[in-house]
Amino acid sequence: MKSADVVIVGGGVIGASVAYHLAARGCRRVIVLERGARPGEGSTGRATGGFRAQFATPVNVRLSLLSREKLLAFRDETGVDPGFRQCGYLFIAANEAELDALAAAQTVQHDCGLEEAWGLSAEDVKRLNPAVEGAGVVGGVFCPTDGFIRPLEILRGYAQAATRLGARFEYGISVEGLHVDGRGRVDEVMTTDGVVEAGCVVNAAGAWAGVVARLAGVRVPVVPLRRQVAITEPCELLPEEMPMTIFVADGFHLRVRERRVMLLWPDEPRVRDPFDTSVEDAWLSEVVRRAHERVPCLRRALIDRERCWAGLYEMSPDKHALLGRAPGLENFYLANGSSGHGVMHAPALGQLLAEFILDGAATTLDVRALRPSRFDEGEPNAAPEFL
Ligand SMILES: Cc1cc2nc3c(=O)[nH]c(=O)nc-3n(C[C@H](O)[C@H](O)[C@H](O)COP(=O)(O)OP(=O)(O)OC[C@H]3O[C@@H](n4cnc5c(N)ncnc54)[C@H](O)[C@@H]3O)c2cc1C
Repeated sequence: MKSADVVIVGGGVIGASVAYHLAARGCRRVIVLERGARPGEGSTGRATGGFRAQFATPVNVRLSLLSREKLLAFRDETGVDPGFRQCGYLFIAANEAELDALAAAQTVQHDCGLEEAWGLSAEDVKRLNPAVEGAGVVGGVFCPTDGFIRPLEILRGYAQAATRLGARFEYGISVEGLHVDGRGRVDEVMTTDGVVEAGCVVNAAGAWAGVVARLAGVRVPVVPLRRQVAITEPCELLPEEMPMTIFVADGFHLRVRERRVMLLWPDEPRVRDPFDTSVEDAWLSEVVRRAHERVPCLRRALIDRERCWAGLYEMSPDKHALLGRAPGLENFYLANGSSGHGVMHAPALGQLLAEFILDGAATTLDVRALRPSRFDEGEPNAAPEFL
């Protein structure tokens, strides 16, 4: 029978980051089990690659600041370029209430040390992104150190570095059962390729985390949420270094990657199957309409229907990650529920979860706000809608 000190279920960016951080600290009998035939078949391969520290709660801002530090050192640490380009994130408000919410979040950010985020007048918004239709804009916020990263390169960097240190990644293997012994320990992982004896188990199954947790009899309130992306044909309508531009009113946002403009609008999915990742024509028409209204030069852009895609966010009830030991089990750890921020936070979450496993608690940051038991305790995080 195969055995490992740590078995990680899920070989996306979070599972790979956990594996790397364990191996880097000398815990090398680590096996990552991934049911996809190759890396990146889950949400990580569908992410657009935004990075920001402009969040509204201290714990999310601090996770971003730790991740940012690690992304800036990523190439030295892993040998792979994470493609971190600090083009900024521009949030646009259409009324005073939205502006107030952005200002309140910015106070939290400043308190956490993100001093370079600042408030904007309507004229400042126009200066930072001249393509945006000015009518109806009252102001916004901007942080120049936010920007873009390459999700699959971060996954590759962590997986390769972890492998060099002795961790093993096994693809095409699905975890189908978790055996809990009489002492509340998950001691065996049942897979399509046999049983693996485990010292401890990490649930890094992204949007499938709730399903995997149920195998151990644990309720993890993480559910999939379809997110669609429209993409144009290559064009010169907007500059490559344009900041991520987000309209607070409805979350519509856009960015440029390799001369193609990506358009996102977080609608309420109408599909019955929560794991469905098709792109709807009705959604596509609506996101294009919003783009034409807000960024008029895009009326000249052509949508590349074949390349539009959808993927799954891994939503928790308060849109914050669940990090640490699962309540009720001795050795079952969660790194789940990042709610659409999992790539940008993966560097920090991997390091912190390795601390939980090896030291019994996270020491680099105070992440009590992410404890998995907070929902049962009636203490979820406050999560403003626009972020
Ligand atoms: C359209 C879109 C845009 C996004 N944009 C951003 C962004 O700009 N910035 C950002 O930070 N995040 C973004 N995200 C979110 C980001 O993709 C996720 O937060 C992140 O990828 C989560 O990483 P993960 O490793 O937990 O999940 P995944 O990459 O999904 O990895 C989990 C893995 O677990 C495997 N698995 C599940 N069940 C089993 C099983 N039983 N046995 C074996 N393996 C199993 C799956 O195959 C999967 O590969 C976006 C997501 C989408 C869909």
